[in-house]
Amino acid sequence: MDLYEYQGKELFARFGIPVSEGRLATTPEQARDAAAELGGTVVVKAQVLTGGRGKAGGIQLAQTPEEAEARASEILGMDIRGHAVRKVWVEGASDIAREYYLSIAFDRSAKKPLFMFTTQGGVDIEEVAESNPDALVRLHVDPLEGYHPWHGRRLVYGAGVADPSEQKQIAAIVEKLYAAFTASEAMLAEINPLIVTTDGEVRALDSKFTVDDNALFRHPDLAELHDVDAADPLEALAREKGVTYVKLDGEVGVLGNGAGLTMATVDVVTFAGGRPADFCDLGGGGDAQGVVDALEVITRDPQVRSIFFNIFGGITRCDEVARGILQALDRMGIEQPIVVRLDGTNAEEGRALLRDADASNVHTEATMLEGARRAVELAMAG
Ligand code: GDP
Ligand code: MN
Repeated sequence: MDLYEYQGKELFARFGIPVSEGRLATTPEQARDAAAELGGTVVVKAQVLTGGRGKAGGIQLAQTPEEAEARASEILGMDIRGHAVRKVWVEGASDIAREYYLSIAFDRSAKKPLFMFTTQGGVDIEEVAESNPDALVRLHVDPLEGYHPWHGRRLVYGAGVADPSEQKQIAAIVEKLYAAFTASEAMLAEINPLIVTTDGEVRALDSKFTVDDNALFRHPDLAELHDVDAADPLEALAREKGVTYVKLDGEVGVLGNGAGLTMATVDVVTFAGGRPADFCDLGGGGDAQGVVDALEVITRDPQVRSIFFNIFGGITRCDEVARGILQALDRMGIEQPIVVRLDGTNAEEGRALLRDADASNVHTEATMLEGARRAVELAMAG
């Protein structure tokens, strides 16, 4: 899960990393009030879960509250690489002398967190890594030994920071960033740029913070920051129900068990001339309730004209899946035709259950290709 810049900075502040004071605004009027409260020049920053906002025009300076209102009304509603801007962060503008870069992330091959620091900040770090690799200092931290002050010193000296006050401030920030990173069970904590102001103060001007979804249950305060509105509403519903679901653009609802088979099903539907409406993986267990939940998500998509169940029973038992389909029909009154291909564990029992139920909108097919063809045909007819 990615945090917004303002959420990441609030987290930084809790760990003692210096940031500018700011306010969140969802309307131009709120941005004006925020600017008036903060006083002086402010910067209005689009809050979206993607980078490069500056280049996209999503970051603007404003001298007065009226100007902040005008800039906010331009930025709110903007589309930055597919992300609609619904809130802006207004903070006291900084006078920037230099822009550095500092991050910590997991280096999976080394199985250790890795610090990266360079005085060539502000731009894409990938660019620095390519054009000027020597300027980028990389340093692992042994997770068992944890952080030691020499880590901070090595980063600072390695990058050639000469000013003693800067050295001290940056080393302190490095230590606090490590604390924020480990305490949150983060995957990435990045400050780009880490600025030096014209007064010689070092401060985090931006934040990119990714926490590990699998550790969120241990961090209810972070889990609460999750912005459900930023996600596709169907994907949000799926997440809530624990259904593995990715929304696609077509008309044939696809449901399989196991990621591989489900991907193959998406391909076969395409091969049969149809367009998949989703990727939905029932997973290994595939009990009746799981099927009901999945069908609820899939049929919520108004584009879905037919549904194709492609099940190869292993751990998943086909009779259990059939029971789930019948339960869902019973409870939800599904209008779209459902094509079912059952093979593997208890396939016979499953097909018998569907046959005996005699549901008019359930069609069984023997193979994956026949099933896909039938589902595509029905989608076109519907
Ligand atoms: P990003 O483009 O999404 O990475 O957003 P950043 O928060 O990193 O801002 C991009 C750039 O905008 C920074 O590198 C700065 O050059 C500029 N910027 C942001 N805040 C301020 C500020 O308070 N004062 C000044 N002068 N420039 C700023
Ligand atoms: Mn940035």
